[in-house]
Amino acid sequence: MKEYSRDKRSPVPKSAITSKVMSAIKARHTLPELIFRKALREHGLTGYRLHWKVEGRPDIAFPGKKVAIFIHGCYWHRCPVCNLPNPKSNSLFWQNKFGKNVERDERKRQALEQSGWKVLTFWECQIKEDTVPMIELVISNVNK
Ligand SMILES: [Zn+2]
Repeated sequence: MKEYSRDKRSPVPKSAITSKVMSAIKARHTLPELIFRKALREHGLTGYRLHWKVEGRPDIAFPGKKVAIFIHGCYWHRCPVCNLPNPKSNSLFWQNKFGKNVERDERKRQALEQSGWKVLTFWECQIKEDTVPMIELVISNVNK
């Protein structure tokens, strides 16, 4: 974890609420993930594995079909649609931190694609709006 050593200098959030929000964002099994997994099951897509041991540890994977799915929180992964503002305090720190998240996401995607995986990335805001188009995309890739 050498490359993330800057995290040790993470500014202490000024309010308990910010702190709570930050730690919730980092959690596994986030709400959008849970919503999406439920939608998969409802469509009979039950053969997925969570955090499969392959490059980038995708949130959801269909290992036999080599389909990897990342569910990205709009805030933490900097959703291009939502384009959420940076925190006002320690803004340089957060810019750097978010930049690293985006770079890391991109590296994971490339590593998986080089190993022959199809990578699908879905955003929290899309999931909250309507999972159907995403489920259709998953179905068409899993049934290839
Ligand atoms: Zn978004």
